[in-house]
Amino acid sequence: FKESNPLKTINDEIFVFVTKKQKEIDELKKLELFRREFLADVSHEFKTPIFAAQGFIHTLLDGAMDDEQVRERFLRKAAKNLDSLDVLVKDLLVLSQMETGDIKMNMAPVDLLQLTFNIFGRLEHIAGSRNTSLKVKPDNLEAVWAMADQDRIEQVLLNLIENAIKYGHDNGKVIVHFSENKKSIEISVRDNGPGIPQEHLVRIFERFYRVDKSRSKDRGGTGLGLAIVKHIINAHDTKIAVMSKPDKGTTFSFKLEKASTQPLSDAHATENP
Ligand code: ADP
Repeated sequence: FKESNPLKTINDEIFVFVTKKQKEIDELKKLELFRREFLADVSHEFKTPIFAAQGFIHTLLDGAMDDEQVRERFLRKAAKNLDSLDVLVKDLLVLSQMETGDIKMNMAPVDLLQLTFNIFGRLEHIAGSRNTSLKVKPDNLEAVWAMADQDRIEQVLLNLIENAIKYGHDNGKVIVHFSENKKSIEISVRDNGPGIPQEHLVRIFERFYRVDKSRSKDRGGTGLGLAIVKHIINAHDTKIAVMSKPDKGTTFSFKLEKASTQPLSDAHATENP
C-alpha cells in the first residue's frame, strides 16, 4: 500500500489550524462590532427621553412654573418621557437576559385561548381608543393547549397584538387565529393595517429597528418588542414568520408543540391518587 506523506499531513494540520484561528478572529471582530453598535444604539435611545425630560424640567425651573397650566402640562410631559425610559430599561434587561441565555424556561401546558382573552382585556382601552376589534378564530374553541413558558408566551402575544392595534388603521380588525395538526398548534396574529414594505420586512426583528421612527415613538414603542419576541420564540425551539401585503395587512405566525388538555400536575393527581 501507499505510505502517507508526512509533510502533506503537517501542511494539512497547519492549514486547518490557521483557518480555525482566522474564523475565531473573525467571530471576535464581529462580536466587538456588535457590542459597539449596540452601545451606540442604546446611548442614542436613552438620550431622546432624557433630553426631553430635562428640557421640560429646566424650562419650569427657569420661570414657566408660575403658570399653573404650563406647570401641569410640562410635568406630565417630563413624566411621560421618564416612563418611556423605564420601559426601555426593562425591555433591555429582558433582551440581555435572553441574549446571554441567562433565562430559565418554565415549560408547562398553557391554554393559549385563555391567555389571548386575558390579553384582549389588558389591551381593551388602547383597542377602544382606535376603535379596533379584537377577535379569536375559529370562534367556537373552548381551549387551546400548548407546551410553553406561560409568562414569556404571554409577552409574545401581548407584543404582537399590541403592535397589530398600534400600527393598524383606526376601525381596524385584529384576529388571533389558531389551527392545529397532529403535533403542533399554529398561532397567527393578523391585522388589516397598512402592512410593512418588503424592504423593511427582513429587518423588523432587529433591535431598535423601526419602519417609521416617529410613528413608533409616538406610540410608545422602544423598537425592542419584536427582537424580544424572536428570542422568546427561538427559546421555544421554534421560529416566527411574518407576511405582509401593502394595504392588506400583516400576519405574524409561529408554531408550538401541542400539550395534553390538562396541566401536568392535574394529570399526575389523576394517575396517582
Ligand atoms: P416598537 O417598539 O417600535 O413597536 P417592535 O420591535 O415591536 O418595536 O416593532 C418594530 C417595527 O415594526 C415597528 O416600529 C413598526 O414600524 C413595525 N411593525 C411591527 N408590527 C407591525 C404591524 N403589525 N403592522 C405594521 N408595522 C409593524
